[in-house]
Amino acid sequence: MSEKPNHKSGFVNIIGKPNVGKSTLMNKLVGENVSIITSKAQTTRHRILGMLNGEDFQIVYSDTPGILKPQYALHKSMMQFVRLSVEDADVLLLMVEVGEKIDRELLDPILRKTEGKIILLVNKIDLAKNEQQLEDKISMWKEYHEFAAIIPISALKGQHIDQVFDRILEHLPVHPPYYPKDQFTDKPERFFASEIIREKIFQTYKQEVPYSTEVVVSEFKEDEKIIRMRAEISVERNSQKGILIGKKGAGLKKIGTEARKDMEVFFGKQVFLEQYVKVEKDWRRKKNKLSQFGY
Ligand code: GDP
Ligand code: MG
Repeated sequence: MSEKPNHKSGFVNIIGKPNVGKSTLMNKLVGENVSIITSKAQTTRHRILGMLNGEDFQIVYSDTPGILKPQYALHKSMMQFVRLSVEDADVLLLMVEVGEKIDRELLDPILRKTEGKIILLVNKIDLAKNEQQLEDKISMWKEYHEFAAIIPISALKGQHIDQVFDRILEHLPVHPPYYPKDQFTDKPERFFASEIIREKIFQTYKQEVPYSTEVVVSEFKEDEKIIRMRAEISVERNSQKGILIGKKGAGLKKIGTEARKDMEVFFGKQVFLEQYVKVEKDWRRKKNKLSQFGY
């Protein structure tokens, strides 16, 4: 990769209570340009929502699963929450609704931890009763904290989204891209899921088995509470299949259990994982198989 000296790149984390409109905004911000992450180094702390690449910038949008839930246990978990969602972000997008009150208990610790990189988005301005209500709300937030910016938006109607983008870019650090810019897919979540399984196989087996293994998540169905996945694990020979599955299936079970635990942290949801092992003779040498696996 050849980068420009002033290339900007960073992690932009979206936080906010459920239903404020985070996903709607994401879709507007990323548009059709969703690309993926190919690095195994990705931590399991964040759920990558999408990436936006330009000639001289790369924005990696993510959120932290399960945060700012109303039942969120404050105090003890708060510091960890702050660390995860705030410190790791280069730019934090804090999203509230136009009718929302200031939840000091929740917000104070976050704001104490970060200076100058929080952009407050006051969403759903289309629901504001009138101009005055909106102005009152904005001055309420202004008084509460000195945000890097306060932008009233309607994620749904696409109002002021360009301003959000401009402000993000303004606060993004100069940094080379974190991920290759030329790899695109519409299935980043499947990719992460297969990487997690692959990692467990590498940790469990020695020598040639991991290197002869490929994992494809062929089904990925997400609903509100659970993600159901089907993973197809290909090995090159029957003997490898035997090793992978293990005595009475113990090997495969171990991989599945460990992978599922990590996936649940990563996706912030319960995961149901089905695994199938099949022999794809010499898949590594077969070109059509390789392209199917995404190489
Ligand atoms: P999330 O839980 O924060 O990701 O919220 P979603 O993006 O899923 O949105 C929750 C609900 O709010 C959905 O019904 C959206 O259509 C709606 N919504 C999001 N943005 C706006 C907006 O700007 N105006 C209005 N009226 N509704 C919105
Ligand atoms: Mg959402």
